Amino acid sequence: MHLDIVTCLPKLIESPFSDSILKRAQKKGLVTVNIIDLRSYSTDKHKSIDDYAFGGGAGMVMMIEPIDRCLEDLKSQRKYDDIIYMSPDGQKLTQSLANELSLKQNLILLCGHYKGVDERVREHLITREISIGDYVLSGGELAAAVVADTVIRLIPGVLSDETSALSDSFQDDLIAPPVYTRPATYKGWEVPAVLISGHQAKIEAWRHDQSVERTQKRRPDLLSNP
Ligand code: SAH
Repeated sequence: MHLDIVTCLPKLIESPFSDSILKRAQKKGLVTVNIIDLRSYSTDKHKSIDDYAFGGGAGMVMMIEPIDRCLEDLKSQRKYDDIIYMSPDGQKLTQSLANELSLKQNLILLCGHYKGVDERVREHLITREISIGDYVLSGGELAAAVVADTVIRLIPGVLSDETSALSDSFQDDLIAPPVYTRPATYKGWEVPAVLISGHQAKIEAWRHDQSVERTQKRRPDLLSNP
């Protein structure tokens, strides 16, 4: 997968990709992540990418011209499956949307800032909008990092144990079962005996029961999904 993240604040989004699983995924050649500074596509000497809103009101608006120049430049280099604008009123990010995106080859994530982008960007230049939840962030960078993280970890080979992503919460509309590690007893708090029984079939059955029980208790809405 090739992921281009377009932002006017590149520093805000560098660190999630320079450690742990996301760093290793790039090292293994399973994904390339390119962070693109929108200001380098600005045409004026102040490198501006925003301007006052037509009609007045507080807050700057990101201009269409640098964004269009940037996207045209990227599109001349490869064919994109989706050009995604991060937006609080976009399609809500879910595990199933992450699964869908993990099958794509080339993606652009466009991060807004200030009041957001000129509406004509949304009308003409992008193919999709994604929200990470019903709250407003100051910029799209953290949202883009969330999307990138959840998508990249699903690419086969990124997690060392490939079944690991499949047993995560939401993959099958169930919450993950509880997990434990050593010591088996801590301050008198015991690990469930079945987990140290060595009986794999019983362990799997216990985990499944726990998942169902937890889902009923914490997220009954998931069980009623069609
Ligand atoms: N005025 C806009 C919010 C702008 S917030 C509104 O009321 O809808 C600035 C930028 O942060 C947005 O352009 C978007 O790129 C990003 N952003 C904010 N909240 C987000 C969310 N929940 N999901 C995805 N992106 C978000």
